[in-house]
Amino acid sequence: MQEASSVPHPLTAPLLAGNRRALARAITLVESTRPEHELEAQALLAEVLPHTGQSVRVGLTGVPGVGKSTFVEALGVRLADAGGRVAVLAVDPTSARTGGSIMGDKTRMPRLTVHERAFIRPSPSGGTLGGVARRTRETLLLCEAAGYDVLLVETVGVGQSETQVAAMTDVFVLLTLPNAGDELQGIKRGIMELADVCVVNKADTAPAAAIRAQTELRTALTLLTPHDAPWRPVALRASAQTGEGLDDVWAAVQRCAHDTDVPAKRRAQAARWFDDLLREAAWRAFRTGLDTARLKSLRADVEAGRLTAVQGVAALLDDRAGGR
Ligand code: GDP
Repeated sequence: MQEASSVPHPLTAPLLAGNRRALARAITLVESTRPEHELEAQALLAEVLPHTGQSVRVGLTGVPGVGKSTFVEALGVRLADAGGRVAVLAVDPTSARTGGSIMGDKTRMPRLTVHERAFIRPSPSGGTLGGVARRTRETLLLCEAAGYDVLLVETVGVGQSETQVAAMTDVFVLLTLPNAGDELQGIKRGIMELADVCVVNKADTAPAAAIRAQTELRTALTLLTPHDAPWRPVALRASAQTGEGLDDVWAAVQRCAHDTDVPAKRRAQAARWFDDLLREAAWRAFRTGLDTARLKSLRADVEAGRLTAVQGVAALLDDRAGGR
């Protein structure tokens, strides 16, 4: 158990004052996998938690090459120029393989990187998707505590990170291309279902095709959306390159955030997140000291049809109850 301490963490005050260096250091602490850092990070998070939650959290996804970085850069610069404080985070479980994307992010968003009202943090590298998502969630809280009021959380690379990002944001934006059908775009139905705002990006390259794609998206969204949904997802066209349509996208994001019961959504997200962590922790605890030979033999019995899966699991639980 962590000891209660009355001494505030030294990063708390500068973080709450919006100091970027303190924010960067706090994030590094949250990303550390060393057990003593984890305890320290949790203490710091607990202190800043009352100062979080005031931002609009926007998730952004789309296949590689659709223009996500260009879009985030263009939108981010607009919002920051207009007085917003914009933080950009990425969820990229593949960055372990490429050794992180720090340089990549600097070149991906050159104007936003140097903007004084923006903060860009590359995806934490290494670890499982769950681990990356956890650190991104906690980073999101730190950014809010530091006063950032627009959080753009982007999926990078191809992966399963879409669901994770949708589960930590208020509004989820899906970027698509003018010229390809759903299949070609690799858009899974499940991802369409997550989208609050769909944007046909690169509309400048093929204006007529972009209008057709927008119409198709509209139809698909109508079919997917339950009639009693508080927000009816919209399909828009834009060009991250020319900036056309970006204001409309942002207006749609704001409308969506307004029409959605954001506090209720966040409460549900937090509860689900707690359940996920609990399931993980319970399994880890159960696995500790588990007789793996026994587990394997029970699994083999289930595979061979000698036991039902329910009987196999019951046998393991009986072992544990009997202290084996
Ligand atoms: P990401 O992989 O989704 O992050 O895509 P990028 O932002 O790296 O964009 C891929 C390429 O498409 C780059 O060469 C961009 O300059 C280009 N691009 C992005 N958005 C647009 C757009 O709206 N119009 C045009 N013409 N090109 C774009």
